[in-house]
Amino acid sequence: MARSQQPTRHHSPGKGRRPAAPALTFLGAAGTVTGSKFLVEGGGGRLMVDCGLYQGERRWRALNWEAPPVDPATVDAVALTHAHLDHCGYLPALVRGGFAGPAHTTSGTAALAGVILRDSAHLQEEEAEGARRGGWSKHDPPLPLYTVADAERAVAALRPVGETGSVEAAGATVTFVRAGHILGSSSVLVEKDGASVLFSGDLGRNDHPVLFPRARPPAAHTVVVESTYGDRAHPEVDPEHHVMADAIRRTIRRGGSVVIPAFAVDRTEIVLLALADLVESGAVPDVPVWVDSPMALAALEIYRDPQHAGEVRPEALDRLRRLSGLRTAHTAEESMRLNNPGSPCVIVSASGMASGGRVVHHLRYLLPQARNTVLLTGYQAIGTRGRDLQEGAREVKIAGRYVPVRAEVVTLDDFSVHADADELLAWLGEMPRPPEAVHVVHGEPGAARALADGIRDRFDCPVSVPRYGERVLLD
Ligand SMILES: [Zn+2]
Repeated sequence: MARSQQPTRHHSPGKGRRPAAPALTFLGAAGTVTGSKFLVEGGGGRLMVDCGLYQGERRWRALNWEAPPVDPATVDAVALTHAHLDHCGYLPALVRGGFAGPAHTTSGTAALAGVILRDSAHLQEEEAEGARRGGWSKHDPPLPLYTVADAERAVAALRPVGETGSVEAAGATVTFVRAGHILGSSSVLVEKDGASVLFSGDLGRNDHPVLFPRARPPAAHTVVVESTYGDRAHPEVDPEHHVMADAIRRTIRRGGSVVIPAFAVDRTEIVLLALADLVESGAVPDVPVWVDSPMALAALEIYRDPQHAGEVRPEALDRLRRLSGLRTAHTAEESMRLNNPGSPCVIVSASGMASGGRVVHHLRYLLPQARNTVLLTGYQAIGTRGRDLQEGAREVKIAGRYVPVRAEVVTLDDFSVHADADELLAWLGEMPRPPEAVHVVHGEPGAARALADGIRDRFDCPVSVPRYGERVLLD
């Protein structure tokens, strides 16, 4: 395992100072996967591309709580690539810190970010309250990073451009191009003062079962590309989901329950369609399937909304609308009852890396019993419970206590919504002309270096893996 880069003290991009030439500063997703934040500055203004929360390892999460390296009041506008928390979840904190500009994004991202930011604020408030009652906080009194009121102000700042499109912001032209990762996800092209920089955002796979594939990337001098799976080739997708079907059958034979930590947005839709296939084909018995995540249910409604039909494959939209037999737990009491269902069931619950949300209490009750199974469905960041489980931890810490892991843990490779190394290189290769510089971000250090090597082999241009706080000129 490559040693992670330490989050070093940032060289401030200058709390009030604005460089004359366009410059780009890496304020997140540099040295790690989460916390995406990039500052593009130039004569005409300051634009922050993505405004994500750090998740996972404590040393990175600590940065969520530090004074931001740029005074939020001096940021003129934000552009969001997509609604995952590690790309938009810091926006309420930026607003709380004095940001008063617009947050431009696509209509799909605006719809999903509304759900995600409010949920995140609730979790922040609940955690602070839980820490106060449990007495395990270092802060006295424990405070949330931001409140529901802050999230409402952030949601009010969202300015959708449509499914894709351009907008003038902070002295730049900002263009959103479909990225095929989750609904509304986009790459963002920023053009200002003769410079152009294309942020890949998170890139999806071309065979996403629900969404139309990503668009061809536009031309740009500079590219900032993600590398979540920069050192990996995804196995062929198994349309019959044999690993999942086998695991569910084994569990039901043991009289156990299956808990699937699923990212509330997109992964839940894909997992539900796969479960529906397996039940329809008889590959697994028709046991109750519970969706225990108010956020996942809200996201499902957005995927089914005719307003976003232009992004969803028609056959998937039809099936999502026809999904039947879903049981939904609305109250906390209903959710708790699922831990003692009396007979086997499948629980799909967020968050996907088991770092928060209702899935945490399901794990607390279900992990100690060998008859149960946890199915992990996607990327698990270092420092999350999902990653610990994936790596065979014998116990995990939940609400201040160690919980033994006796349940079976299975990782499913079928549900990734991130491009792998070849797909990332193919995306770069589709640019109308090769970029003049590429910066590799949003990966663990080994994955970022591997992708950087791959890009150097294939394209004749300088490639860097920037450090946290690093600044480059864009001219
Ligand atoms: Zn994402």
